[in-house]
Amino acid sequence: MPLPLALLERVTLSCTAPPPQLHFRQLSSSAFCRAVAAAAPKPRKPKDEKAQFYSKSLNLPATPFPLRADAGKREKLFWRRTTDELYRWQAEQKDRPLFVLHDGPPYANGNLHTGHALNKITKDIINRSKLIQGNRVHYVPGYDTHGLPLELKALSALKLPAASLTPQVIRSAARKEAEKGIQIQGEEFRSFAGMGAFADEDAYKTMEWGYEKRQLGIVREMVRKGLIVTHHRPTLYSPSSRTALAEAELEYRDDHISRSVYVSFLISDLGALAPKLQKLGLEKEKVSLAVWTTTAWTLPSNVAVAISDSMDYSLVRSSTSKSLLIMATERVAALSEILTSPLETLTTFPGSSLLSTTYISPLASSSSASEPRTIFPASYVTSTTGTGLVHTAPAHGVEDWEAWRAHQLALHPDQPLEDTLCAVDGAGKLMPEVLEKLVERDVVERLGGKDVLGDGTGAVIDVLQERGTLLKEVEVQHKFPYDWRTKKPVIFRASSQWFANLENVKEDAVKAIEDVEFVPPRGRKTLEMYVRGRSEWCISRQRAWGVPIPVVYSYPSSSDPIASSTPYLTPSNVDHIISVLDSKGQGTDYWWTGEAEEFVEPEELARSKAEGRSWRKGVDTMDVWFDSGCSWTMLRDLDLRPEAPEKPYADVYLEGSDQHRGWFQSSLLTAISAAEEVGGKKKAPYGTVITHGMVLDEKGRKMSKSLGNILPPSTIINGGKNLQKQPAYGTDLLRVWVASVDSTRDVLIGPAVLAQTFEALRKMRNTARFMLGNTAGAAKEELGVEELSLIDRYILHELYELDQLARDAYNTYTFSRVYQALATFSNTTLSSFYFDVIKDSLYADAKSSLERRRVVYTLQKVLDSYTSILAPMAPLLAEEIHHFAQGASADPKADVAEAGSVFEKVWALPSVSWDSPETKTEMEELFKVREEVMSLLEQAREKKLIGSSTEATVVISNPPARLRKHAELLKTLFIVSDVSLVDEPLAPSTEWHFSSGSITVQPATLAKCPRCWTFSKPAESERDVCARCHEVVGDVAHAHW
Ligand SMILES: [Zn+2]
Repeated sequence: MPLPLALLERVTLSCTAPPPQLHFRQLSSSAFCRAVAAAAPKPRKPKDEKAQFYSKSLNLPATPFPLRADAGKREKLFWRRTTDELYRWQAEQKDRPLFVLHDGPPYANGNLHTGHALNKITKDIINRSKLIQGNRVHYVPGYDTHGLPLELKALSALKLPAASLTPQVIRSAARKEAEKGIQIQGEEFRSFAGMGAFADEDAYKTMEWGYEKRQLGIVREMVRKGLIVTHHRPTLYSPSSRTALAEAELEYRDDHISRSVYVSFLISDLGALAPKLQKLGLEKEKVSLAVWTTTAWTLPSNVAVAISDSMDYSLVRSSTSKSLLIMATERVAALSEILTSPLETLTTFPGSSLLSTTYISPLASSSSASEPRTIFPASYVTSTTGTGLVHTAPAHGVEDWEAWRAHQLALHPDQPLEDTLCAVDGAGKLMPEVLEKLVERDVVERLGGKDVLGDGTGAVIDVLQERGTLLKEVEVQHKFPYDWRTKKPVIFRASSQWFANLENVKEDAVKAIEDVEFVPPRGRKTLEMYVRGRSEWCISRQRAWGVPIPVVYSYPSSSDPIASSTPYLTPSNVDHIISVLDSKGQGTDYWWTGEAEEFVEPEELARSKAEGRSWRKGVDTMDVWFDSGCSWTMLRDLDLRPEAPEKPYADVYLEGSDQHRGWFQSSLLTAISAAEEVGGKKKAPYGTVITHGMVLDEKGRKMSKSLGNILPPSTIINGGKNLQKQPAYGTDLLRVWVASVDSTRDVLIGPAVLAQTFEALRKMRNTARFMLGNTAGAAKEELGVEELSLIDRYILHELYELDQLARDAYNTYTFSRVYQALATFSNTTLSSFYFDVIKDSLYADAKSSLERRRVVYTLQKVLDSYTSILAPMAPLLAEEIHHFAQGASADPKADVAEAGSVFEKVWALPSVSWDSPETKTEMEELFKVREEVMSLLEQAREKKLIGSSTEATVVISNPPARLRKHAELLKTLFIVSDVSLVDEPLAPSTEWHFSSGSITVQPATLAKCPRCWTFSKPAESERDVCARCHEVVGDVAHAHW
């Protein structure tokens, strides 16, 4: 711990100077302050003219830069110059290299949470670090404005049953909700002091016609390449949202519980098994297939049973079942336990023997019209769970659907495949009119209208029980997909949907990301995995609030428009639709009001009329991930880099790591699907993909209403209801917290973390204040390193290293490294060391002396770099420092326009002459001696022999050469009144001393100088002051007193 300094007491307590708002003791630790206070002499009387004269003759620090941040009031003063005005100014600096950070649009719904703050502030730190290093920045924030949550909000605001509302009414209400969301979020985003096109009118919105038009242009390109197709097939479907969903709209829950059932499917024809049973004398007995499913509600839709033709199967007798059961041989032991019935194996046979066997649906009977169902081989059948016989319902499973169609095609290669029957409607209810084709009439009555995620499962199980085909019901807990918006389970359901075919796109996409940099690097594998795992992207949604899929359907005028219609989706007709929408000036709203025929290009319309065909419009909208995934087209159309078409549109995309399967992926896929090749390669829209983790509370828990641990950014900035508990920390504090965390993983926030960050920021403010106070009004001169003291050179070397590290950390997006390095430099190198040892020179040396000029020079250089390094993290504080460093004597009157920003000055490269590892080595050796001296002084202080360290002197015997070399410096370094280097140890003759090895601390022998308070005035001197002070103030003793 450094020692109290006589001058410090003086500055703190003198009644003549400095101005009352200055309390320089705050610059050091609180222990230091207590030491100063304890040793403080009583203030001198004002009438002591001599003391006043000396006091006034000191160069005491002075600055109007206030000690307290007072964020609520002061941040406003510097706001405009560092946000909107700065963005406009820098956009005009066309000669600077361009840096493009493309904003991923947040969903425009509700207030912001701390995750938004982490996201937007990280982006702003990147932009500002680029700007201060001499770039020009392009940054236009965006909003994702279509989709279900806003549509649901609109529906609840309309307070009318959805069925009674037209799409136009719903869309208009949803647009209002989106506009409200943009206004709320826009205001909150601006409270983070971001620099960009933040005004509501400048930000991009996915619901604007200009945006939608570009999106439809992408669809047109994909249609041209044959990438947009329609199928009737099972897709993930959310009954609670009443729409198809994409993988990115799901969340998986591990605690889902299903009522799984083991069911017997009665065999109607044994096929190749008949001779075998005959030999065993079992031909008269009933034989069933043992089948297991976790979705009993899909049993009515059963069309077949899949087996493995490479596995063995057994015929077993159960003590409880009326019939003999067939199951995989490897499952017999497990099923004995599950069915709680010993199973006696009668015979075993290869799976292929089952392929000619047929059975009756457990919900039909042999007497009904239901046809016997077949058994077919499928590669996904295993013996790890179930029975080795897999219930197949193609309407409700992708594997089932694919395998069943492949089987059908193999059997009848010439017959067109019919659409799969689906017995579940859009609300997730079983439809009687379809059930009739699948199960018995009385079962139709029992199951019709039942909810498959509600009472449907129980109703099916009841029927099985009554019919004696239920072998066992077992509850299973397993991982299950949920709709992330409604938090309700989803199902697979066959319906007609539109898909982007990615089969031929994904290889190009994977190739394109070879050129992309990922921060952290693991992101590459994650994104690649999602891209590779996707063959089709279901892009249609059955909702009103979105961009329409630009498809029209024609049908023979005499028949049903739905049942017998053919889609018409061609590049030229998409262009026609775009031009119609463009001419009406209502954006895509006109799709819902215009006549279908308007959206058919004239030649096709004429042809259809001649052929007696009529038209209807498609009613599906597009997946909102397709919307936001097209945002790169805005950058493409701005043509920001005409000179480098091979470069990606954006240098950086930055979002939460969950966007690998969301926006990063949808942006890549639309870009690769629609973009032309540049230089023989399709390019990704981004050069670097950066991800951040989630924001958790201090205990590492997710923030949630139920835990009551939500800490919104507005509370951190403006304070909570109880300001004692939740102070108004201001914007810079929130930003510095963002800079301080390693956001490549999940980060923590809470009262303790914030208090800690506040303390760190307070120290940085005080460090800056000391430098401002001591360099104010000083001339700027350039000194060579050879003119500096070893200590100054050491500080500049440390500054050089800090500067290099900060540039590297900003350019590799590892801001916590900048923050740590700056805090250490601020607290350890400056406050605890350098500022202490230079105070004597700063306050008491003559302004014209080299000793003081070189210290001032060093402080000027440090302040300059310090402000630049701090600025991207805490721009408001940096602007405030810059304002006063420019010589301002007071706060700006208001937030004045054209005040000039710290960012207008490019962060100056440090002089390479400062880089001196030898200086550091020399200083480190001196620090070792200093540490010993400090500990001896501390002993003297504990015994109350000294207060200030200047009351002591140091004697070092047999000093090594390195000490002799810097003999002049030692007094300053140790902050004592004198240091003597002697050849032989002297017998101490003073009243007290403390020794350690060759070092002795003892009382100062000279008298105290009334000006600088060091004990350096020879007692016999005729002068009033010490020799140094005499040089500064002259021989005033006789002149005045
Ligand atoms: Zn003096």
